[in-house]
Amino acid sequence: MKRILTGDRTTGNLHLGHYVGSLQNRVKLQDDYDTFILLADIQALTTHFERPELINSSIYDVAIDNLSVGLDPNKVTIFQQSKIPSIAELTIFYSMLVSVNSLRHNPTIKTEAKQYGYDDLSYGFLGYPVSQTADITFCKADLVPVGDDQIPHIEQSRKIARRFNDLYGKGEIIIKEPEILLSENSRLMGLDGNAKMGKSLGNAIYLSDSIEEVNKKVRAAKTDINRIKVSDKGNPDICTVSKYHKVFNEGEYKNICDMCKNASIGCVSCKKILGDKINNLLEPFREKRNYYENHKSEVKEIIISGSEKANKIGNETVKEVKSAMNILI
Ligand code: ATP
Ligand code: MG
Repeated sequence: MKRILTGDRTTGNLHLGHYVGSLQNRVKLQDDYDTFILLADIQALTTHFERPELINSSIYDVAIDNLSVGLDPNKVTIFQQSKIPSIAELTIFYSMLVSVNSLRHNPTIKTEAKQYGYDDLSYGFLGYPVSQTADITFCKADLVPVGDDQIPHIEQSRKIARRFNDLYGKGEIIIKEPEILLSENSRLMGLDGNAKMGKSLGNAIYLSDSIEEVNKKVRAAKTDINRIKVSDKGNPDICTVSKYHKVFNEGEYKNICDMCKNASIGCVSCKKILGDKINNLLEPFREKRNYYENHKSEVKEIIISGSEKANKIGNETVKEVKSAMNILI
């Protein structure tokens, strides 16, 4: 079986962007791939190092988010990054193979640095694509289902793998070059319509939101600002709600856009339809979430046994890597 590695930073609950960008593919592929889900608590430190308690509590939250959408703990391996020392070791080795300039020019690093208001980047933040390469390669993953912000990072990972193999492989592949898997909706915009939906941006609908919270957020979503009265004709091209209809209500999307353009539907009704669609999607997840929230010790066991399994695999990889690099005693 080929292997998948993907995951999420433990910086808070997951949202609809995670779902359509990556989680949906994880669920779809779990029968055909040996799937590894990373709870990235070390990568979370790159921006949240001052909030260790949030990172810690989010380990459960993110694990439960993944389980609630239908990942089967009997099939997939869910594990905690800080429990896998081989990832840290590989990060050090890989860091010799990456130029600081290539990291500085990484477009996602630039966007995120701006979002967080960093002008002088920490060594850890600048280097997170390197540690992410270790996350992916410690278990020799073939495929990485992620959102489109990850494109430059996976490209960086492939370069590191190639460089490593060229330098130390003696004609053999020691580090597998991972492939990216983008979903149809690899970038979901936030409710504000300004940036991608993000945990740290205050513009998200969370998988854990209640029916009322979803409806309230959808009601507040940005629409065409030129449409003031119901009788004004709308422009779906500049309306966040219409973008969400395309993703969560594809069957009615075209019809709703037409009705908006000829003013035969108002924003209130349009938002009501969307809120219902999103709630229909989330309803079965809520049931599973409820189960795991009430069985936290089961979740803990899933993470502990997943981390043990990942550790064994990582230790083997580090042995091979050290041997290839001639780091022997
Ligand atoms: P943070 O603000 O803490 O960085 P995040 O929302 O960017 O949070 P991550 O844990 O960094 O979440 O991302 C986990 C995965 O979800 C990645 O594969 C990322 O590409 C994907 N993802 C995150 N936000 C979106 C989005 N709005 N649309 C599509 N995919 C997304
Ligand atoms: Mg992110």
